[in-house]
Amino acid sequence: MLWGLLMQRCPRCRKGPIFEKLFSRRGMATLNFCPVCRLKFEREEGYFLGAMYASYGFGLLTTAYWLPLLLLDVSPLWVIGLPTLQLVLQIPISFRYSRTAWLYLDRGFDPDVVEDVS
Ligand SMILES: [Zn+2]
Repeated sequence: MLWGLLMQRCPRCRKGPIFEKLFSRRGMATLNFCPVCRLKFEREEGYFLGAMYASYGFGLLTTAYWLPLLLLDVSPLWVIGLPTLQLVLQIPISFRYSRTAWLYLDRGFDPDVVEDVS
């Protein structure tokens, strides 16, 4: 399961991609359904709002170094600026992994509710 999550694969078959290719014109777009097993990814309007929680947690974890910087009495410009710059730069990664984590979490808790598109 962890490998599927890291590779951003479908939570059911773990073969089909969840997103368009990263460096394509629609690189940030989520596919509507899995091209392999036809699992519908966005099962209702606003479904991926829950991914914001994963994105928030991801941002907190990856910028947790601000507290040691603060305790080391580093300039406030670095304490605020460095994590802010990092958060802006990691938007594509955070976006994709938060949606993937949300899909896996939701599918883990409620596997039967997700409908097939056939
Ligand atoms: Zn699939």
